[in-house]
Amino acid sequence: MQTETQSVVTPIVNSSSPRNFFSLTLADLEVLFKSFGKEKFRAQQVYKWVYDKKVTDAEQMTNLSKDFRAELGNMLTFELPAIKTHLKSKDGTQKFLFDVGDGKTVEAVVIPAEDRMTLCVSSEVGCNMACKFCFTGKQKLQKRLSSDQIVGQFLQVQNTLTGDQRLTNIVFMGMGEPLDNSDEVFKAVEILNSQWGVNFSRRRVTVSTSGIVPEMWKIAHHKTRLAVSLNGYDDESRSQIMPINKKYPLKDLLKACEENYKESGDMVTFEYVLLKGITDQVEHAQKLYQLTKHIPCKINIIPFNEHPGSGFERPSDSQILKFQNELMRLGVHVLLRRTMGRDIFAACGQLRSEFESHPKQMDTSNSKLTRTLHLRSNSENNTHT
Ligand code: SAH
Ligand code: SF4
Repeated sequence: MQTETQSVVTPIVNSSSPRNFFSLTLADLEVLFKSFGKEKFRAQQVYKWVYDKKVTDAEQMTNLSKDFRAELGNMLTFELPAIKTHLKSKDGTQKFLFDVGDGKTVEAVVIPAEDRMTLCVSSEVGCNMACKFCFTGKQKLQKRLSSDQIVGQFLQVQNTLTGDQRLTNIVFMGMGEPLDNSDEVFKAVEILNSQWGVNFSRRRVTVSTSGIVPEMWKIAHHKTRLAVSLNGYDDESRSQIMPINKKYPLKDLLKACEENYKESGDMVTFEYVLLKGITDQVEHAQKLYQLTKHIPCKINIIPFNEHPGSGFERPSDSQILKFQNELMRLGVHVLLRRTMGRDIFAACGQLRSEFESHPKQMDTSNSKLTRTLHLRSNSENNTHT
């Protein structure tokens, strides 16, 4: 049986203001209850009420004493980020806009596939990494999300799915750089992973990073999977489009990838955006192969998704194929990412909290936690563009 992990961030003290339940690991909740003089096992009981039975009204938690139920209101709130807008693409992709307070919003995208249903979540509003090709990167960091806002994206989206549809994979490939907000990101992973809660496997969580090297060890430590936005075939090409490469050059980044492999035994996923005339030439594919051949990996090539004012172009389909074929010829495990959700501006690098102007909006702001979360098992991670 798996063990619950300890609190990932700050210990909880008996403060006068209630804590958001969705920001608490089971261990956190036990500490909180203890500080109010309550038994440890109460934490499991409340976790079950909320995650299993979808009950957040203390009065309905009938196996708790009346006094305890009355006190819960002083200890906990059960707030989730409200869904402001919900769009559906022709191809089945869905995009959600969440209110995360202070007038800010973030997006999450659901990408359906035959054998899985992947949720692409955001970790920040905007992003300080300023990658030149990225829509989110144009918006400087405005807010790091709290763990409950990350957990909330999952719970709210799961709740809107119909029939027996279940989210099977989570990828941190939405807005923001997850390793720039790693405490909250991994806390959210631990909360979702709890056997008393959603019981979502950490092995189905992929954390994608632009390469904040000193933080990368945490990905294997938390038993999640690593994806790296490589996007360049050498230091020069990468630094031109990803400023982070000047701080953590390829030598350090690839060493961290090797260490991840040694620790986890998982293949690394490299993401590589194809920019016309800049990263899409056959000789670039050869250099990319030379750069990565010593690391067990797969390479996801992502044709650039255009957005206004980027200054970059998407290569032609024939050039994309040439690039892919060259990698295949060299024996690389390569995947060409199908572009999904373009009609609702939900493709990779197109997320920027602005889709009020897009069509097909559905108001689901009243959605509540009402359905049970059962998660299907699948063996691989999914990603989208
Ligand atoms: N900050 C993290 C995760 C979010 S970005 C990271 O950079 O890894 C998710 C992916 O979208 C990255 O691989 C990035 O290279 C890719 N991406 C960003 N803008 C894009 C665009 N306009 N077209 C295609 N892919 C893009
Ligand atoms: Fe930030 Fe990732 Fe976009 Fe770079 S690609 S700006 S790290 S979200």
